[in-house]
Amino acid sequence: VIEVQNLTKVFGEPPNRVRALDDVSLRVEPGEILAVVGASGSGKSTLVRCLTLLEQPTSGTVIVGGNAITELDERRLREARRAIGQVFQHANLLDNRTAKRNVEYPLEVAGWGKKEREARASELLALVGLADRQHTYPSQLSGGQQQRVGIARALASNPEVLLCDEPTSALDPTTTRGLLDLLARLRDELGVTILIITHDLGVVRRIADRVAVLDSGRITDIGRVDEVATRLSSTLLSDLSADGE
Ligand code: ATP
Ligand code: MG
Repeated sequence: VIEVQNLTKVFGEPPNRVRALDDVSLRVEPGEILAVVGASGSGKSTLVRCLTLLEQPTSGTVIVGGNAITELDERRLREARRAIGQVFQHANLLDNRTAKRNVEYPLEVAGWGKKEREARASELLALVGLADRQHTYPSQLSGGQQQRVGIARALASNPEVLLCDEPTSALDPTTTRGLLDLLARLRDELGVTILIITHDLGVVRRIADRVAVLDSGRITDIGRVDEVATRLSSTLLSDLSADGE
């Protein structure tokens, strides 16, 4: 579902040039949960941003949901992006809209009628366990509940792929487990393919099928979680846990 070929992203000009991604190739299979780990500055967010072309890659190809999105014009790119849902560290909900109207928002933008989008938003909030919080404003929701609304919103356009950049790093351990279990359930029930970025090996162990390790813009290891975990150098492990506070 996701295929990245020889992706390179260079920021800035010499002498301040940064090679944030250096010839990265990877695949995420349908229905798979792939975690990407790496120290701060290793290029994780840049990778996710390149997958939606929020960041224009310097070179390389990105294929998501059958579309080579690096080759599309603006209009086709907008369509292709609907097959990609995104979840961030903070839910970034609109404060002046209820949970339900936040979930409706992308459907409004996409031109859905009021009845249809209200029904869809209610269904999605029930799916993420917030059927009774539809009319609540974000300021009255916990961090974990806000993240659930963010996930419901990301699912509104029925994406094949969910990209999650540190979705649990602002949450306590119990709330984190609940959110990860929700993501795993969405994979099981909807078949959505998930790429999740994290500093936290606990997150990887709980949810991922495979894990890729990014180090200075390069993938230094990729494979099954148990295999990669035993290969990770102790320095990287301590980096990761220090950042995962
Ligand atoms: P963190 O774990 O701290 O979120 P990360 O792995 O997500 O880190 P990125 O945000 O992808 O790291 O950054 C990778 C490298 O690219 C860093 O050296 C960063 O300074 C650089 N970088 C990222 N965005 C830009 C930009 N817009 N302009 C210049 N350099 C950038
Ligand atoms: Mg980041």
